[in-house]
Amino acid sequence: MPPKLTGIWRNRSLRLAITGLSGSGKTALITSLIANLVAAPAQPNRLPFLRAASEQRLVGANRTRRRGTADAVFPFQETVAALAADPPHWPASTTDFRRTGLAVRFHSAGLFGIPNPFGHFADRAVEMTIEITDYPGEWLLDLPLLAQTYQDWSRTTLDLARQGIRAALARDWLGFLDRHPAYARGDAETAQRAHDLYREYLVGCRREHLSLLQPGRFLDPASATSGPGLAFCPLPGASHARSPAGTLAAVMESRFETYKRIFVRPFLSQLARGVDRQIVLVDVFRALNAGEEAFSDQRRSLETILESFRFGRRGLLHVLFGGRIDRVLFAATKADHVPALQRDHLEALISHMLAVPALSAERARARVAATALASIRCTEDGVDEIDGRKVDVVIGLPQGGDRRIHFFPGIVPVTAPPPGFWGDRFTEFPVFQPPRVQHSGQEGIPHINLDKALDFLLGDMLA
Ligand code: GDP
Repeated sequence: MPPKLTGIWRNRSLRLAITGLSGSGKTALITSLIANLVAAPAQPNRLPFLRAASEQRLVGANRTRRRGTADAVFPFQETVAALAADPPHWPASTTDFRRTGLAVRFHSAGLFGIPNPFGHFADRAVEMTIEITDYPGEWLLDLPLLAQTYQDWSRTTLDLARQGIRAALARDWLGFLDRHPAYARGDAETAQRAHDLYREYLVGCRREHLSLLQPGRFLDPASATSGPGLAFCPLPGASHARSPAGTLAAVMESRFETYKRIFVRPFLSQLARGVDRQIVLVDVFRALNAGEEAFSDQRRSLETILESFRFGRRGLLHVLFGGRIDRVLFAATKADHVPALQRDHLEALISHMLAVPALSAERARARVAATALASIRCTEDGVDEIDGRKVDVVIGLPQGGDRRIHFFPGIVPVTAPPPGFWGDRFTEFPVFQPPRVQHSGQEGIPHINLDKALDFLLGDMLA
C-alpha cells in the first residue's frame, strides 16, 4: 500500500524509520536530514541529487511538534548545539525509540507544477509531513525469533557459539551449562546464573564487534529484561518439542516465549503498522577493521534483517501484520573516511553483501537499495605522494587534535575480501572532528550522498 495521500491538494504523509546498530550513525543522520531539508528551499545546492530540491520546487520546511504521544522526542536542538560548540563535538548516541517530525512544502512536478512563462508555479504548494522514528538495530535481529521455537533457537545459537572467537568468549557459560543439563530440575537461581553468563558472553562478542547477537535487548543494561521473569538463555540438548514441566529447559522456554510476547511481537506490529519506509545504517568500516569474523557476522546480520523486510506474501512483516513498508535503503555510513573512488568501492561492497543493485538514478524506484553516505562530512578529498606515487587521501582534523591530517585509508574491497586480506587489520580510522555549524542549524550540514538517499526514500512523494 503506498503512503497516505490526503486532501484535495493531496497533502501527504510519510513515516520514515531509521535504524542501525549502536554507533552506526543514526543520531548524525537524523540531525543532518532535518537540517538539510530545512535549509534546502533557500539553498537547493545543499541537496543537488534530491530532484525536488534541484528543480527548486521546495518552498519551505520546518520541524513539527507531535502532541499526544508518550514517545521521547529526538533532541535536535541538543545535537545541533554539540555541532555548533567551539570546538564542535559529536552529539550523544541513540538509545531508544525517539520521534520527530518535519513538514516540507513543495510544488508538485506534475502538469500543473510546470512553471508558467513568468517563472511562477501554477499550483498551490503541497505539504508533506514526515514522521521520523529511530530505534536500535539490535531489535531488528530479534524478529526471526518469532518464527522459531525455543529448541530451534537454542540449536542455532549454540552452533554459532562454538565457532571461532565466540567459542573462547562462551567458555564460562557453556561450562556452567555442562554442569546443569536441560532436563535436570530447574530452579530460578540456576536459570539466573546461566542467563547472567550468557549476557556476559554477548557483551564480550559485542566488544569484538560481532553483531548477530540475540536477544537484542540483553545488550542494553537499562533494559527491562534484567528482571528474573526474563532471565533465559539457550540450552544444549533442549530437543523435546515441549520441555517437560519442572526442568531447566521448561523455565527457559517459558521465559523465551514471554520475551517474544512482550517485546518482539509488539515491536514487529509497531514496525508493520507505523512505518512506510525504512533506512538501515551499517558501519561497514568498523566490521572490516575488526577482522574476518566481525565482517562475516555483519553479513549474516544483514541477511537476517533483509529476510525480515522481504516483500511479498512470505515476508515476516506481511505474514504477521500485512506490513506496508515499500522501500528499504541500506546505507554504509561514515563514507567521508575514504576518498571518492573508495566511496564507490564502499557502495559496491555493501551492495554485494546484500546482493541488491547499487543505488543509481535509473534504479531509484527499486524497493531495496544500497548506498554509501556520510551524514556529517568531516573531511575533504586530497592527493598525496607516497614513495613517488600519487594516492588519494582524505584530510581532516582528528577529534581533540590541533592539526589536520592526511589520511590514507587503503583500498576498500568491492566484494567479500579473500582470506589473505585479513592478515592485517584493514585500517584504524581516526575519529574526525565534525564541522562547526550555525546554532540554528539553518545553513544545513555538509554531507555525502544524503541527497541520493533522500531521493530514493522521498523522491516519489515530492514529485
Ligand atoms: P548512533 O548510536 O547510531 O546514534 O550513532 P551516532 O550518530 O551517535 O554516531 C556514532 C559516531 O560515529 C559519532 O559519534 C561519530 O564519531 C561517528 N559518525 C557518525 N556519522 C558520521 C559521519 O557522517 N562521518 C564521520 N566521520 N563520523 C561519523
